[in-house]
Amino acid sequence: MNNQENLRGQAILTINAGSSSIKFSVFLLPQSNQILVGQIDGIGGESTFKVRWCSENSEHTINWPHAKQPHNHREALSELIQWLHSAAQDVEIIAVGHRVVHGGQKYSAPTIITDEVMKELEALMALAPLHEPHNLAGIRAAQESFGDIPQIACFDTAFHRTHSFVDDCYAIPRSFYDKGVCRYGFHGLSYQYIAERLMTMFPKESGGKVIVAHLGNGASMTALKGGISIASTMGFSSLDGLPMGTRCGDIDPGVLLYMMQHEGLSANEISDILYKESGLKGLSGGLSNDMRTLEASALPEAKEAIDYYVREVKREIGALTALMAGLDVLVFTGGIGSNSAMIRARVLKDMSWIGIDIDEEHNLKGETIVSSPASKVLCLKINTDEERVIARHAFELTKQICDV
Ligand code: ADP
Repeated sequence: MNNQENLRGQAILTINAGSSSIKFSVFLLPQSNQILVGQIDGIGGESTFKVRWCSENSEHTINWPHAKQPHNHREALSELIQWLHSAAQDVEIIAVGHRVVHGGQKYSAPTIITDEVMKELEALMALAPLHEPHNLAGIRAAQESFGDIPQIACFDTAFHRTHSFVDDCYAIPRSFYDKGVCRYGFHGLSYQYIAERLMTMFPKESGGKVIVAHLGNGASMTALKGGISIASTMGFSSLDGLPMGTRCGDIDPGVLLYMMQHEGLSANEISDILYKESGLKGLSGGLSNDMRTLEASALPEAKEAIDYYVREVKREIGALTALMAGLDVLVFTGGIGSNSAMIRARVLKDMSWIGIDIDEEHNLKGETIVSSPASKVLCLKINTDEERVIARHAFELTKQICDV
């Protein structure tokens, strides 16, 4: 692969560390031009390292420089940095922005990571056991690899800290709320990006009553009033609300009691079922968590999984609309929301009672506006870009403490 010799200057690296993967992107300052995106997968096993330069269309697979597989996030990041040094020699990373799933009740804005912040985030691991440990491993690895440059945490929960008590509580003894058992809401970086895009693209409508459906492998929906989150379908954990690739979504807590008391399942076993074996995968009889596979399948279980998914999205549109006492704009985003014309069409079907009228042709073509001119609700398809939000936050905070 050619080095990008014409690229020079200071840049922000964004990192989204999962259990065995690191997604990353580099934004050149001061305009925050995204110059590359990539992903290291399979950390700890047979790993792959893929990169796409934004100036080119094709994706490149990088051979590990020292013909060795990284055993952990630190080794993977160290290899990434070495590769960056040789592939983009004149690009200087001046700060790293990290996606952190959970910021608890305290973190309502991006934060420069100090030892004290790290300790507080470690204490939050119990709230997001499947995500937070990996996010923090990514931060530690970046601290070791980059030395002193600022590391900034950007929280998925922060965008929702505007909710009222009633929108965030559960009807259980209040002492649990005081201990942090409440609705947090997630996908906040995506919602922030969409809220800002709406303001630029549709300034008049963006100030109204908006529902954003972030339908990816993880999925949630959020109600925005004047660009501010007032309610979201995800609650205390990332299991709540819509069914997802492998997560159950809304469920009667009595089912969990049944699993414990009558099936004798342990907390870990139930956790595995709800996080890894449920959702589209569970309902399709184990066929797949991927909507593309289900759409292409003739199996009745695949069809039922999609039917349930569509039903739940429709139900949440109704619920969030009721909370806002109306609806002006509905936005689809995330891998499914942006790419599946079939899911959008099925969700929007028979919704004239709420003022929705789909433009079938625009929807099929994947145009931005998928509702007809007669539709009272403006229905849109907008691709999200969480990395860009992280990069911007990281740059803003870095400017406050460094001379850049
Ligand atoms: P994540 O939540 O991991 O960021 P994405 O937002 O990338 O996930 O969404 C991934 C999901 O998007 C895939 O699991 C797949 O089901 C779905 N998807 C991607 N492209 C299409 C498509 N063309 N049609 C239907 N579903 C799609």
